[in-house]
Amino acid sequence: MNRNRRKSRVALLAGYFFAAAGPLAAQGVPQSPAPASTSVIGDTAGLAREANVWLAQLIQINTTNPPGNEDAAAKYVAGILEKEGITPEILEVMPGRSAVVARLRSSAISDPARALLLVAHMDVVGADRSRWSVDPFGAVIKDGYIYGRGALDDKSMLAANLATIIGLKRANARLNRDVIFLATDDEEGGGDASIKTLIAKNWDKFAAGFAINEGGQVVTKGGKVQYVAVQASEKVSVSVAVVAKGTAGHASVPTKDNAVVHLAAAVAKIGSYSAPVHFTSIVRRYFEGMAAISDDEIAKWMRSLETPDRGEHAQRVLSETNPQWGAMLRDTISPTMLNAGVRPNVIPGEARAILNIRLLPGDTIDVLLGELGKLVNDPQVRLEVQPNAGLAAPPSSLESEFYAAITKVAAQEFAGAPVLPYQSPWATDSAQLRLHNVQAYGLWPFPITEEDLKRMHGDEERLSIASFNKGVDLLARIVSEFAVAK
Ligand SMILES: [Zn+2]
Repeated sequence: MNRNRRKSRVALLAGYFFAAAGPLAAQGVPQSPAPASTSVIGDTAGLAREANVWLAQLIQINTTNPPGNEDAAAKYVAGILEKEGITPEILEVMPGRSAVVARLRSSAISDPARALLLVAHMDVVGADRSRWSVDPFGAVIKDGYIYGRGALDDKSMLAANLATIIGLKRANARLNRDVIFLATDDEEGGGDASIKTLIAKNWDKFAAGFAINEGGQVVTKGGKVQYVAVQASEKVSVSVAVVAKGTAGHASVPTKDNAVVHLAAAVAKIGSYSAPVHFTSIVRRYFEGMAAISDDEIAKWMRSLETPDRGEHAQRVLSETNPQWGAMLRDTISPTMLNAGVRPNVIPGEARAILNIRLLPGDTIDVLLGELGKLVNDPQVRLEVQPNAGLAAPPSSLESEFYAAITKVAAQEFAGAPVLPYQSPWATDSAQLRLHNVQAYGLWPFPITEEDLKRMHGDEERLSIASFNKGVDLLARIVSEFAVAK
């Protein structure tokens, strides 16, 4: 895109945000009357307005992964930090793919065990333009929302992290621990340019004892925050190929060992399989908390989940009510790709499907594949684990001082809404951090409805500007509570 054109558009955007962001309550975002926690950053309204513009510009930098091309976003982010007198370092992970790190020091000698890492990724998943009413990379403003790929996942968090570290710097805050900003690349691909490689090559640049990242949410319903889910653990993504072999031949003479037929039968059996339910302590606490705010009928089933007589029925009812609840209780399998044949009149010798499996922390792929093998029970079919499987990480502690700070501030901001620990069905960069002894928590801080959350990775991804501004404020307060000396 032409540079000048972008500049004028952004100037327009800035004006729009200023005029349109308006009172939060008017846009359905609850506003606490007078937050009990005071933050050294103070009133974040002006900062949030600046961050609106960063968010828009980040959306306009197309970082669809693959190929990612995060270098452009990295340079942009580094430029903003530099202007504020915070020295950024661009860490090249692969050609065209970079991360950015920057630090506010608490003392001359850093103590990595105390440091707090603010993490967000710069890459986004692809967008099918034909299914959007606006340009997915236009950062178009409509009805108080900013539309665009990355508006939710994860450029909003990236912009809020920037606002937080810049707010601390401008306030000349006296820190009791280093605050480190980290913008990662290749999160959506989780491949060779991802945080795994970054940690292997550059851990000393951002080693920390605590981290805040995407992964948990502030969920609203009817204009009111219903609960705050703080991700402390996550499921593990593993892709598995189902490979059926048969005799290739002329389609005019059907064969019993047709690979397509054997594959289809195997996928159908796997598709209707339900793995056994396993509870983790985080999931237990999540359902306890949810029961307290759910209607009587649902609450009854949440409280019956582990009873011997009604547990199984409760698991079924809750999984049907909310498929995400079902995914929190068991390993899940989604067949996602099918591939067979090159000609209408040729029986192929091989047919393949891909399953995307999400394991509960603690469960292993071998055990599940053993079950699936028995279920498929076909010597023509085999199951093969694919590369780039996620790694299981220990959960972050629910007793840490950072978890306590997040809980305290969130509870103050949204009085009456419970703050619950959360085990996400999706994977984030936090698993790799947890494997390096970081107490990492997921909290995407922008109040949002379940409906709008579904647009993540989907069509018409959007975030209300009022919600973005509120999230900037919440994040700044959490980080101030934990990292600013009292
Ligand atoms: Zn993400």
